[in-house]
Amino acid sequence: MGHPRAGAHHPRSLGEFQAWFRTDADCLDYLEWLRWPAGFACAVCGHEEGWRLGDGRFQCSGCGGRTSVTAGTIFDRTRTPLTVWFSACWLFATGKDGISALSLKRTLEIGSYQTAWAMLHRLRSVVVRPGRERLSGVVEVDETYIGGVETGLPGGRARGKKVLTGVAVEIREPRGIGRCRMLPLADGSSSSLHPFVQDHIEPGTRVITDGWQGYRGLEKLGYVHDHRSQRATRARGEDADKLLPAVHRVASLCKRWLLGTHQGSVDDAHLASYLNEFVFRFNCRRSRSRGMVFYRVLELAVAHDPVRYQDLIAEHGPRQVPPTPPQARGHPPSLERPPADRPWRTAQREPSG
Ligand SMILES: [Zn+2]
Repeated sequence: MGHPRAGAHHPRSLGEFQAWFRTDADCLDYLEWLRWPAGFACAVCGHEEGWRLGDGRFQCSGCGGRTSVTAGTIFDRTRTPLTVWFSACWLFATGKDGISALSLKRTLEIGSYQTAWAMLHRLRSVVVRPGRERLSGVVEVDETYIGGVETGLPGGRARGKKVLTGVAVEIREPRGIGRCRMLPLADGSSSSLHPFVQDHIEPGTRVITDGWQGYRGLEKLGYVHDHRSQRATRARGEDADKLLPAVHRVASLCKRWLLGTHQGSVDDAHLASYLNEFVFRFNCRRSRSRGMVFYRVLELAVAHDPVRYQDLIAEHGPRQVPPTPPQARGHPPSLERPPADRPWRTAQREPSG
């Protein structure tokens, strides 16, 4: 399929979104089109023919296996209606800064905070595209502390309450910023920093860092290493923070986003997942159509393996659960909106008398 077109392959506006996805069946059909653009293909045997069963599922004519459009995707066995999923996805993709779990719960009348929280985490887990291209050209790399409670940590690389995070940002001459990558690091040693650089930056790239010893040896890994000394910068009377302006800009945007949209309620165990979302937003920031971002998120969602709730809470469950009466995990009512029959047009007028 060629490049998706606004108004045909993804909605141009909220109005169009609402008109297209009135029912759970509309949403299911869209997911089917996204997952199998050329028609059904069996995930088990790879056979490309099958037929639709009476209950909407598919049967493979190769191996006889039965499956559904949502099986094996992040919507696998979801008890949340697809209309609610689509609305959550629209808010996630089209909001400039995304949405917090608490706002999502309130906006879509989702029964529990945990359900809203898990939906957003599932969306976050799909927006890291496996095998995505590494950064290239000229890239600044640095580490910074992110998350935790804002405290006046002394400078230097001593470990505080925050999480040490690797930041890599493409520089576009003369003053622009390209794509970025952010990831929590175990520590600031070369055994953490070298794999971070190798996983996210193409060999041959010019990598700009400060003088920290953890970056020594990048030339041997095939990079053109340009290390800038803080001391030389200070000697020139310049601010040492200006040494790597692009990474400082991206890191401060990220910190502001965590404090703004998520009110700083991000714990260490889930920081990586929030960083994924931030990086995705940052790298999509110039996308002309927000509907296109919505399309991309759903396209990734139907190509992504199921994410179990148990895996999301493996280390820590949702934090800062607002005080709500004890209840089971709530599943929201469908947001289905059947076409209105315009009673004002069809109803007979009372005979005037
Ligand atoms: Zn099959």
